[in-house]
Amino acid sequence: MEDSLDNTTQPHDDDAVEQAPPEQSAEMTPEQSAEMTPEQSAEMTPEQLAEAKEYGRLSLYCDLADKALDLGFLVVVALALAVPLDRWLAERITNDTARLAAIFIVITLGHMAISFPLSAYAGYVLEHRFGLSRLTFARWLGRYAKRSFLALALGLALFVLLYQVIWYVGDWWWLAAAAGFFLVSVMLGQLMPVLILPLFYKVERLDNEELSGRMARLAEGTGLSIQGVYRLGMSTETSKANAMLAGMGRTRRVLMGDTLLDEFSPDEIEVIFAHEIGHHVFRHIRKMVITGVLYSVVGFWVCSRVLLAWAGVHYGVTEASQLPPATLPLLMLVLTVFSLLLEPLQNAISRRYERQCDRYALERTGMREAYVSAFRKLARLNKDDPDPHALEVFLFHSHPPIGQRLAMADE
Ligand SMILES: [Zn+2]
Repeated sequence: MEDSLDNTTQPHDDDAVEQAPPEQSAEMTPEQSAEMTPEQSAEMTPEQLAEAKEYGRLSLYCDLADKALDLGFLVVVALALAVPLDRWLAERITNDTARLAAIFIVITLGHMAISFPLSAYAGYVLEHRFGLSRLTFARWLGRYAKRSFLALALGLALFVLLYQVIWYVGDWWWLAAAAGFFLVSVMLGQLMPVLILPLFYKVERLDNEELSGRMARLAEGTGLSIQGVYRLGMSTETSKANAMLAGMGRTRRVLMGDTLLDEFSPDEIEVIFAHEIGHHVFRHIRKMVITGVLYSVVGFWVCSRVLLAWAGVHYGVTEASQLPPATLPLLMLVLTVFSLLLEPLQNAISRRYERQCDRYALERTGMREAYVSAFRKLARLNKDDPDPHALEVFLFHSHPPIGQRLAMADE
């Protein structure tokens, strides 16, 4: 439900922010810059570039390990443990809904226990090693616990609700579930900026007359109210900078990280704000919800076939309304595989949206230099590899590499 500019700002040593290699910092003519490699156009020193590449490489490994762990865990639980676990629970809990809830809680806690070391490494160790996190371990742990509890509570409510639909609707449940998915997406989309984000960050109305004036001019005629620009207190957690468009309907707003507001020049902030307005103008959140619902129709239909086949073998069940709670881990496995397979497609759509908004920001503001300097700053501060491997981008990146985003300024 959100879109970010994809960023991560650094600045434990402020030098890194302003420092540009002397031999590269001078103005270049468009002809020169058109021939530059992505690395050159990002104007990072060899050290900064090496660090960004190392951070990108380790983050990628963590992401891959996380996906493999999720998948492996669910395969084992769904195919080897679900039946004995359900049987053991059935002797103690006869109510299907209560047993379903118990299975979900056991799975989720088990998964947390297994993935905790990796979460701590990726979320705490790595971020500190690259000077990006500002949290002590205790505070990181507190936020991790809060996030996990929220995921547990929300997941529990949604899966219990889903099985009520399955048991009540029967064989066509996948269609009803997709309709429910749409309602939940819209509801979460509306609540995200007003209820969920404030649990983790201080959110306050932007209090800066100069910036507000610039933003009001940019937002004019787009239907986005200038009342809806907020300062997001990310700096207690990270030195990374970020901006996003979030919310739906009356909760629609642009959130600008305080890290970004404090580190960037008014011109650079204006260009980034224009990019976020682009997401509003092109209705990207609405389009993402609609494609999500289309995917969910297919995903739930696949689940309905697989679950029935599996339950037929293990429980002799022939109708969806009789699916036992033991099918929950398999449902989670199928949904996980499905979303992993869809990820490249969703990322391709997202990157297209981002390019659309970059172009919009350039045309709307006409500030090519501020656009270029904003992205160079983001690459340096966020330790963002300007030119990662094309396969990595294709599979995992929701945003185009900074090198490509810089190249757009020359088109
Ligand atoms: Zn964006």
